[in-house]
Amino acid sequence: MQHLTAPSETELTPRRPPAYSAWSSPDLAYAVFAVNAVIVLGFWWFSTGFEITRNASDAFNGIGRVTGLLGTYFVLWQLLFMARLPWLERAFGLERLAVLHKWNGYLAIGLLIGHGVFQTLGYQLGDGKDVASQLGDFIASYQGLLAAIVALGLMIAVVVMSVTIARRRLAYETWYFVHLYAYLAVALAFSHQLATGVDFAGNPAFVWYWCGLYVLVGGSLLLYRVVGPLATYSRHRFHVQAVEKEARGVFSIYITGRDLDQFEAEAGQFAIWRFLDRTRWWQAHPFSISAVPNGRRLRITVKNIGDFTSNIHTLKPGTPILVDGPFGKFIERPKNAKVLLIAGGIGITPIRPLAEEMATDGFDVRILYRAHSEGDIVFKKELDALSTREGSVRVDYLITQAASRRPSREAWFTPANLARLVPDIFDRAVYVCGPIAMMAVVRTSLEALGLSSDQIRTEVFRLQ
Ligand SMILES: Cc1cc2nc3c(=O)[nH]c(=O)nc-3n(C[C@H](O)[C@H](O)[C@H](O)COP(=O)(O)OP(=O)(O)OC[C@H]3O[C@@H](n4cnc5c(N)ncnc54)[C@H](O)[C@@H]3O)c2cc1C
Repeated sequence: MQHLTAPSETELTPRRPPAYSAWSSPDLAYAVFAVNAVIVLGFWWFSTGFEITRNASDAFNGIGRVTGLLGTYFVLWQLLFMARLPWLERAFGLERLAVLHKWNGYLAIGLLIGHGVFQTLGYQLGDGKDVASQLGDFIASYQGLLAAIVALGLMIAVVVMSVTIARRRLAYETWYFVHLYAYLAVALAFSHQLATGVDFAGNPAFVWYWCGLYVLVGGSLLLYRVVGPLATYSRHRFHVQAVEKEARGVFSIYITGRDLDQFEAEAGQFAIWRFLDRTRWWQAHPFSISAVPNGRRLRITVKNIGDFTSNIHTLKPGTPILVDGPFGKFIERPKNAKVLLIAGGIGITPIRPLAEEMATDGFDVRILYRAHSEGDIVFKKELDALSTREGSVRVDYLITQAASRRPSREAWFTPANLARLVPDIFDRAVYVCGPIAMMAVVRTSLEALGLSSDQIRTEVFRLQ
């Protein structure tokens, strides 16, 4: 098995300036969200919103229009959350963006259902029709309304199916492809908005603004999800150099390319990798960079847990790779001189290069690495070499083999045990990466010990 040699000072990629500036703070994102929501509400109020007090029909219609506008506005944010915009990613991290995407999605669908219900009630009251004939009239007489009804049906189906797929832990690809129908729904609903949206009629400023929002969101998606990875590929020509076994069911992929010293990746980050061979080109998966980038090659290390990862060892040298990223919040460096890195299972991948880089930078590094058994420890030789070479790194392997009398998974991470293992834990910034359940236990214990939330950084291997 080949091991990475420690890069010399000159081999290290130049460090990027701190990524976290005012331009990438969550507050800026909230401000952009709020200002545009107020603009939308303002256009609605001055177009037709002020009429809502006139009678019951106008009240329902007014509520129907504003829920439609806001629901669509939230849908545009749904797309933006997934566009991998650098400033949004730096502000929240992809993991939190996925959470925002989920809750914003529920709000959007609630508002859009409200739009359908209130508009039907409003028109029905105004025209004196029953619900069925009102719906028939919508379809027969209003341009684009059938498409809009189909779009709403699609959106509801996407939400229901996504929740079911996530709950039943069905394949990620199923979840992903179901989500693609949401784009169809957005396209179908667009013509309805401009053709029948009363608030847009005779209000060219609102039409321009609304179309501008679509152009911005569509442009961001195209730029960051399609053009970006293609441009990165054309510059660096990433391809597989070698595939090597690391441990039971775990393989490292060594990736090389052109001008890799210009590729701004840091220890602790991850990217979304698309291997362009006959069987894999259609799916992209996130994996962390598992060795300090040295300007000549990158390494990712993959554990076999599903259909894609179980075949990773069949990758052939020379296979081209599209890379989307890098991303991740583990590039923040703490003010504390001491750090504690906690890894569970394959969660060691971002921790391994972080430890090396932090030790090189003069941090006092402790690593707690939980694995099921000795045979499951990944990078053992590298970690041991690191603790021998860099006097400031200490690694403890926490083995949880079921047959042994060693502590169970949870017992390793009780507040008392953590304080026993790392007596100066209070002085340390803590980075945690591992299975979701373990991370929840670790976070609870750290908080119980009195560590503040800005002392704790986490990376979750899940973006759903
Ligand atoms: C930020 C991040 C960093 C990661 N780093 C590593 C790493 O260094 N090493 C490693 O072995 N694993 C890592 N993972 C997990 C890895 O992405 C999944 O194990 C892998 O995608 C599983 O694919 P599968 O088809 O084999 O399994 P499946 O059974 O299809 O998926 C298992 C679970 O993996 C997740 N997943 C699957 N496909 C994707 C996808 N295309 N995009 C996002 N999530 C997906 C879903 O939560 C899914 O439920 C990371 C995940 C994230 C989010």
